[in-house]
Amino acid sequence: MMLGALTSLASPSGGRARLTTFYFHRVLPQPDPLLPGEPDARRFDAILGWIGNQFRVLDPLDACERLYAGTLPARAAIVSFDDGYRNNFEIALPILQRHGMKAVVFVATAFLDGGCMFNDRVIEAVRRAAAPVLPGDAIASATDLPLRGDAERRAAISQTLDAIKGLLPDDRNQRVARIERALGAPAAERLMMDAREVAAMSRAGMHIGGHTRTHPILCALDDASATDEIAGGLDDLTAITGTRPRLFAYPNGRYGRDYDRRHVAMVDAAGCAYAFTTQPGAATLASNRLELPRFTPWARTRMRFGLMALRNLADAGARVARH
Ligand SMILES: [Zn+2]
Repeated sequence: MMLGALTSLASPSGGRARLTTFYFHRVLPQPDPLLPGEPDARRFDAILGWIGNQFRVLDPLDACERLYAGTLPARAAIVSFDDGYRNNFEIALPILQRHGMKAVVFVATAFLDGGCMFNDRVIEAVRRAAAPVLPGDAIASATDLPLRGDAERRAAISQTLDAIKGLLPDDRNQRVARIERALGAPAAERLMMDAREVAAMSRAGMHIGGHTRTHPILCALDDASATDEIAGGLDDLTAITGTRPRLFAYPNGRYGRDYDRRHVAMVDAAGCAYAFTTQPGAATLASNRLELPRFTPWARTRMRFGLMALRNLADAGARVARH
């Protein structure tokens, strides 16, 4: 088919190869009106089918090694997940296995065993709210935010996250706790994997990669704390799986805003061979092995998805500077 031929041209084998890395977060049991961007199981199955038709999905570590050895096949791709959601184990893993695909899951270790990232705490508190409004004073807003339907709930979530995302972690956690109390929401189900599930993902042949402990904006930390987040997260994963991760993904992932050259050096010193950003584009032999680009596919039809992936291949967004 034409898409396949164009993809082979844009993503040839060998020394001129381009490596596409797709990334996902949650894979939902069914569509969720509060998370319109996240695929449910059926859509994820379809997306993996599209990826499998257009690309050749490789073991993530092998793919990185072959990129720099100049031995990648044409149309090479990696599938990755960020943060360590429980549904990666319960829902995504069996679908990946059905497609015969290996993926890498980047896990923020502080949230294993019952933790929850601040953005998800806000989403789940709004979802489960007993109160009809989010009181404005909980987010330093002059007006209360109504929560009567999905559209108002989505708007309240986005306004709340905008109001608190720039706060320091302790202040942000206090603010989230206040929002949870104001909404009177019962506790959410466990969203992230536990250690046993991470170990099972690893035994199933998936790679487990570093993603820090608490998912901070690394640029906002002093160097000692950033080192502790990066190396400590890798230590935690080593203790869980028995294997030191070779792969890492920077939280949030934009150079100069979320991480910088100091953190690239820390990831290198901590023993990771390859690391991923959220800069779109495809990696080439000239890409920095510790700043490989990634791409989130959001298109809802096979043709649009294929064209987005092609356009991403044409994007030389990868940082090539070797720090
Ligand atoms: Zn993340």
